[in-house]
Amino acid sequence: MAIPRSIRKVFKSKPTIEGAGVHLKRAFGFTEVPLFDPFLLLDDFRSNSPGDYLKGFPWHPHRGIETITYMLDGNVQHGDSMGHNGVISAGAVQWMTAGSGIIHQEMPFGDQHGKMGGFQLWANLPASQKMNPPRYRDITPELIPKLRLDNGVEIRIICGNIAETNGPVNDIAIDPQYLDITVPQGISYNHQILSGYTAFAYIIGGQGAFGNKDESYINETLILFGDGDSITVTTEDNPVRFLLISGKPLNEPIAWGGPIVMNTQAELSNAFEQYQNGTFLKQ
Ligand code: FE
Repeated sequence: MAIPRSIRKVFKSKPTIEGAGVHLKRAFGFTEVPLFDPFLLLDDFRSNSPGDYLKGFPWHPHRGIETITYMLDGNVQHGDSMGHNGVISAGAVQWMTAGSGIIHQEMPFGDQHGKMGGFQLWANLPASQKMNPPRYRDITPELIPKLRLDNGVEIRIICGNIAETNGPVNDIAIDPQYLDITVPQGISYNHQILSGYTAFAYIIGGQGAFGNKDESYINETLILFGDGDSITVTTEDNPVRFLLISGKPLNEPIAWGGPIVMNTQAELSNAFEQYQNGTFLKQ
């Protein structure tokens, strides 16, 4: 029998300053561990004011995690210690598996109107993969399948599969699904999610009700679901657009220091020591 997921907890994203002084909004992060396992953090950096984002995220290390950047508007110039250089532009995704370590910078610049917008999700790596070689998936907008269901629901599949359609990112240990879903007005949409997986929706526009509650939620609200095997989204007079993200919990200890997330304090200290003495990079 199908078990619908109810709402476990609702979050409103909060203003935070990161990098060299970027004003963004954080939906969840360090203080929520381990509630979102296998996910660590979700930042929302949508803004119409270049002063909010131009300072960017100059050179910094990552180890033990994946950072997933999904752009809606504007651009992020990216460069790293392995010599990669590029721009993540509107509609594109960069799925970066830091593994044993990269040092990179991420410098946002807006579109011609100064508009900038996107999200960065951090996913944890299992202990067995934290020291794997780093790798990138650069996903241009045309590689992201866009489904339109009979009821008018539109789904962009960044990762995971719906029916026969697969997203461009695969071979990720936590078996994530990352979808950008728009539900038109006056619809009740049911979506299957494997039971036992952590699942949340982050609303990025419009208004909708989730789970078994009548209350509707708007932009910048995150709904964390309890367990079950499907979620329901219901709209009335407005459509709703949200990111729907799920993944298999790791249930491993977390030692988190800024941009590095390991399993033990010793591994964390070791990583920072290596960063200080120039032996951080393994590739
Ligand atoms: Fe980074």
